[in-house]
Amino acid sequence: MSDQRNFVILLGPPGAGKGTQATRASLRTGLLHVSTGDLFREHLRNGTELGNLAKSYMDKGELVPDDVTIRMLLERIDRDDASAGCLLDGFPRTREQAEALDEALTSRSGAVAATVLIDVSDEVVNNRLGARISCSSCGTVFHKHFNPPDDANPCCDNVDLVQRDDDQPEAIALRLQVYSDQTAPLIAYYGTAGKLRRVNGDQSPGEVEDDVYASLRELIE
Ligand code: ADP
Ligand code: ADP
Repeated sequence: MSDQRNFVILLGPPGAGKGTQATRASLRTGLLHVSTGDLFREHLRNGTELGNLAKSYMDKGELVPDDVTIRMLLERIDRDDASAGCLLDGFPRTREQAEALDEALTSRSGAVAATVLIDVSDEVVNNRLGARISCSSCGTVFHKHFNPPDDANPCCDNVDLVQRDDDQPEAIALRLQVYSDQTAPLIAYYGTAGKLRRVNGDQSPGEVEDDVYASLRELIE
């Protein structure tokens, strides 16, 4: 890897598999996985003011305002463990966030090396989010049918699997609308910059992982 910090963006609608694939790509590339959704949920668990503010938007399926989201993300990528770069999952989600990231990276010896779009249909999204569950202690994400937890190998002691408050039909519908209005335009933003790679997200997790890795391999060899 070069001295430049490499930032890889995983783009796609809610439920595309960004978190699942970011975890896998992080293991294969060594880049840190940073999820703005996870950061907001961590704030919420810690009872911070930011967490409570974010919850009021997240529960409805709306985006948290750009200024607080950008500030939180920049604070995270400025920590030592992000010195080689990051895999960004769920950020940017608006043009303002994308422009703020570009501007911030120029003064941090970094660049968006690639944007991987995980392409899936609305039908796939609904099937995935309707039965997404995660561990309330470590946050590992499962699916009741497609990716059930392994009872013989639990992620935590006394594992407690919960459904997210925003994985309810009304919030899912709104999140899909928000994605199409505010986030999908970033496909053209990064496409014009020659940085977009598309992966078919409607394959098994292992197949998607291989395609994501193939599209990033040149960055890490
Ligand atoms: P996102 O971060 O894009 O919202 P997740 O990674 O949380 O998506 O995945 C959404 C749900 O779909 C989870 O329950 C996850 O276990 C499941 N999932 C992820 N990738 C696949 C796949 N390729 N096939 C089937 N289910 C998947
Ligand atoms: P998913 O990809 O499954 O929709 P995330 O965990 O990425 O879930 O995001 C959950 C919620 O957190 C979003 O619906 C939104 O309210 C908030 N959020 C996450 N990332 C951002 C962001 N970059 N900008 C604004 N809001 C965000």
